[in-house]
Amino acid sequence: MLTAGVDIGSLATKVVILEADSSRILASVCLPSGPRPAEARRAALAEALGAAGVVASDLAATVSTGYGREGLEHSQGSVTEISCAARGAHLLDPAVRTVFDIGGQDSKVVRLDEDGYPTNFALNDRCAAGTGRFLEVMAQALGASVEKLDDLAMSAESPVTISRTCTVFAESEVVGLLAREVEPSRIAAGLCRAVAQRTAHLAQQIGVQPTVMLVGGVGQNRAIATELQAVLQMELVVPEEPQLVVALGAAAIAAERRLAALETEAAQGGSGA
Ligand code: ADP
Repeated sequence: MLTAGVDIGSLATKVVILEADSSRILASVCLPSGPRPAEARRAALAEALGAAGVVASDLAATVSTGYGREGLEHSQGSVTEISCAARGAHLLDPAVRTVFDIGGQDSKVVRLDEDGYPTNFALNDRCAAGTGRFLEVMAQALGASVEKLDDLAMSAESPVTISRTCTVFAESEVVGLLAREVEPSRIAAGLCRAVAQRTAHLAQQIGVQPTVMLVGGVGQNRAIATELQAVLQMELVVPEEPQLVVALGAAAIAAERRLAALETEAAQGGSGA
């Protein structure tokens, strides 16, 4: 059975085509979301189907999630990112009990049970601090790309303390530190530490239970993963493609829903015979 999971995020739209029986990812894509979620969904899905060498009618079910799902027609099946993050993490590692999801404009901490269902969550969607957007603004102030920020931070001897939480004030602080000729690598390391501390602070609302997994686009930043591990004093699992985990969870939920529907149909057929 082939299913698709579509995660229409604030910045990036991710699609995973899943071979549900073997839990094998046949194809995945990540495209900018742009201003129209429905269009982003269509384009990303078409590209993923092409990459998998299948057509839309080969899909048994599709589930959409993410910020942009609310603008979609009801028939397109939508599920919260909380559920999808939990199920995606569970599929990759059934021992996971806490997921940190740091995306473009929000960050979440989700507690899940042994079956991959969320039991509690904490969400920061009010402020850019501690999100991918924060990193992008700071990378720009440092004259680096968001991808390069990681290498820069990893090369630092020691992080400088970034005292301002707010993105606007932290940006001024970075400009001030550069003017005082503080090493850019130390500033990058300080910024990564600040994101990790902010994320750990969010988790205090619901507590953290191991095994812990880091997902979302910001999960690609090794310096943040290392800092988060140090603040939590717990080992952190980072999957190979953290940005795809929510879309993977959506594809897994699509498969579960389809199987449930087939079972209902079979039961109804059976009782009618
Ligand atoms: P959303 O679902 O909100 O669109 P994603 O989980 O797709 O968010 O993550 C997008 C964010 O990931 C962007 O803010 C981007 O800056 C950040 N990002 C992408 N690549 C990297 C990287 N290599 N290191 C750190 N952050 C990254």
